Amino acid sequence: MNISELKNSMDPKNVGREMYALITELYPICRSITGNGFRQTMEILRRYIPLQIHEVPSGTKVFDWEVPKEWNIKDAWVKNSKGEKIIDFQKSNLHVLNYSTPVKKTVSLKELKEHLFTLPDHPDWIPYKTSYYRENWGFCLSHQQFLTLGDGEYEVSIDSTLESGCLTYGELYLQGEEENEILISCHACHPSLANDNLSGVSLATFLAKQISSGSHRYAYRFLFIPGTIGAITWLAINEEKTAKIKHGLVLTGVGDSGKITYKKSRRGDSDIDRAATHVLKHSGEPHEIIDFHPYGYDERQYCSPGFNLPVGRLSRTPYGKYPEYHTSKDNLGLVHSEFLEDSFYKVLAILNVLENNRSYLNLNSKCEPQLGKRGLYSSIGANELALLWALNYSDGRHDLLGIAEKAEVGFNSVQEAAALLSKHNLLQEYRETDLI
Ligand SMILES: [Zn+2]
Repeated sequence: MNISELKNSMDPKNVGREMYALITELYPICRSITGNGFRQTMEILRRYIPLQIHEVPSGTKVFDWEVPKEWNIKDAWVKNSKGEKIIDFQKSNLHVLNYSTPVKKTVSLKELKEHLFTLPDHPDWIPYKTSYYRENWGFCLSHQQFLTLGDGEYEVSIDSTLESGCLTYGELYLQGEEENEILISCHACHPSLANDNLSGVSLATFLAKQISSGSHRYAYRFLFIPGTIGAITWLAINEEKTAKIKHGLVLTGVGDSGKITYKKSRRGDSDIDRAATHVLKHSGEPHEIIDFHPYGYDERQYCSPGFNLPVGRLSRTPYGKYPEYHTSKDNLGLVHSEFLEDSFYKVLAILNVLENNRSYLNLNSKCEPQLGKRGLYSSIGANELALLWALNYSDGRHDLLGIAEKAEVGFNSVQEAAALLSKHNLLQEYRETDLI
């Protein structure tokens, strides 16, 4: 690789702006876990990266689940007794309960209220609600508007279909020097929500675009899937491929102003956990590392005990910890290009560690080699210390990341030291893996 070369060749200002522009384009689309909104989203992403689109038929058994019926929607509204549209899907796709069954009837206020969802704590906001696995219809609206609804009859119309069809997902596989893979996964099933959903989609898209432009040690597999059922479906169909996944990241909620949060894989000490922890610690910026827990995003499926893949999650403020989460306030004003860009570079830095993390053997292990006569010991400084650490711990049992951690220095200085020592035939790469 070089992800580090790649990083240097990029214009940082542009990537943040381009990520934001993609989010802006995708934002109005009414997505769901199946249907044309998801397909349209994948088609837009295909302008950036050559995604392969997969269609999995409704009813396909995927472990304990089944691919659901396909949902599509054209329009939805509620009219009052004067015939005025008081709730209109065309104004916000969050107004309809996502996955609503079709309905067209006149109802009393009492019946209507059984199908309305609001947020009393944030009376101006529209909640985002779904009814994926229990057939229902409904509308979401601000609590303020809800309080104005008077007695009388209401006409409700949801022009949707819920029929046998397909679950769609996008996949991009980039061949590496090795067959081992790094998995990057994001959910793309939410309608007009910017941070939860689109920020991860945008970051993964630009990451794929950048990585495909250079050589890299690992193969990369990018998944753009509907949350939960998409990960379950992919794992069920591709179980034999999972042995090749050596590291993985779920990306979501990467555009808000909060500090970066890394959630460890279930293993807790996998290389992705070590690399992410190291990069965030050495960033000198506020961040949080949290242990795995069995709720959240698709890490739940990748880290289910039968797979237990080394997949962590990178977000900024974790879901549920910001009030705008799953509301109309998770909009284009919540995400910013500077934070998208910062998240992008943090992910690149983590991948850079994984790409370059190797084990070495000291070829001159009986006492220190004389560095001075090789021109490696001009004066005592940080680099010389990194040389000593790299020499001493290159016993095949410590990888460069482990040595950097012991030395309490950034990965790059140990990596550079190892490269220099290899050039002088003092280190040799140790090929046998998993002996850390
Ligand atoms: Zn969500």
